[in-house]
Amino acid sequence: MRQAKVSKERDIAVSKKKLGLALVGLGHYATDRIAPALQNSQFWKLTGIVSGSPDKAAQWQKEWNLAQDNILNYENFDRIVDCPDIDAVYICLPNSMHADFTIRAAKAGKHVIVEKPMATNIADAERMIEACRAAGVHLAVGYRLRFNRFHRQIAEWGRNKTYGKVDYINAIFSINVGEPGQWRLNQTLSGGGALMDVGIYCIQAARYVTGEEPVSVKAQFGPVVDTEKYAEVEGSISWQMKFPRGTYVTAYAGFEHYIDELCIRAEKAFYKLESAFSYGPLSGILRTDEDHIQPIDLPNEHHQLMQMEELGQLISSGHPPPDYASGQEGLSDMKIIEAIYKAAETGEEIYL
Ligand code: NAD
Repeated sequence: MRQAKVSKERDIAVSKKKLGLALVGLGHYATDRIAPALQNSQFWKLTGIVSGSPDKAAQWQKEWNLAQDNILNYENFDRIVDCPDIDAVYICLPNSMHADFTIRAAKAGKHVIVEKPMATNIADAERMIEACRAAGVHLAVGYRLRFNRFHRQIAEWGRNKTYGKVDYINAIFSINVGEPGQWRLNQTLSGGGALMDVGIYCIQAARYVTGEEPVSVKAQFGPVVDTEKYAEVEGSISWQMKFPRGTYVTAYAGFEHYIDELCIRAEKAFYKLESAFSYGPLSGILRTDEDHIQPIDLPNEHHQLMQMEELGQLISSGHPPPDYASGQEGLSDMKIIEAIYKAAETGEEIYL
């Protein structure tokens, strides 16, 4: 046994053997963000892949020196039960596929890390949590920013009232989604548009900066700029959330322009992250009065490596994922997302 030094707060003994991980879906996120993190991980080893593309699978098998038995596709995925080198799966598939593959992995006795949003509706999120509980496996959601120092800093200031109570938060995350025809614009696969994909970061930030759950939401879909491209999902949405101790939140999520900022006004300071939600580098300022502005001076680290190391340290020592990246946390977001859609569709204030 050796002592892990990833987290100063936790000093947990971990097994020398790395956890075996199978990536499910080999698109952008798995390839560009998770695989590089695994290359530098002291807790995880890529031991399997699940892909619908035989060519891609062959390429990955060679590059990562993977055993033939650990190369699966979406149809024969349940054979994973016979893959002892795979301890956990990381699901990087279109949103509506998360539930099915989580439940199948849990039944095969594998721990699950699933990308955000954990599902496309509350019922699926609940089924995923129950399947993992029943199988005695861990379920984590890939909330990379919960492992990030900038976000931990502003969450600490907000929740501890370091600069007084937080009165107001404005969160905007909008990306250039790209070409029509992709799954993010297909309601069945995505479960929704900009809110599902990037708005979830704004919801998360409001929750962890206040440390509270919203009481009610109002919402408005943005104007449809391209009726063909946005025939099924919203291209933009604005919403407002009221929190129990009076914090008021305005937020916007979009698919047509790149905007990425989080502004927090507390009684005695204003603090802001920009870039806030992207892969970084993140940066921020703290303004304690008119003339005193200082940068939030923190190191930029690889988001996914930080996430994987903290999760790996916990899981390899028999501990569950932290509450802030748990299935319950994902379910809380699903409830708010459903309420925001209902508010936008009805024009009413929806109470949670
Ligand atoms: P992507 O389109 O690049 O990759 C999706 C993968 O799923 C591809 O390998 C594709 O072949 C496969 N797939 C299987 N069945 C499919 C189907 N029916 N239609 C389309 N693709 C299918 O997407 P991505 O950007 O990697 O996103 C995957 C997941 O990761 C999503 O849930 C997304 O929200 C999440 N994500 C998270 C972050 C983050 O920062 N945490 C960033 C990007 C994506």
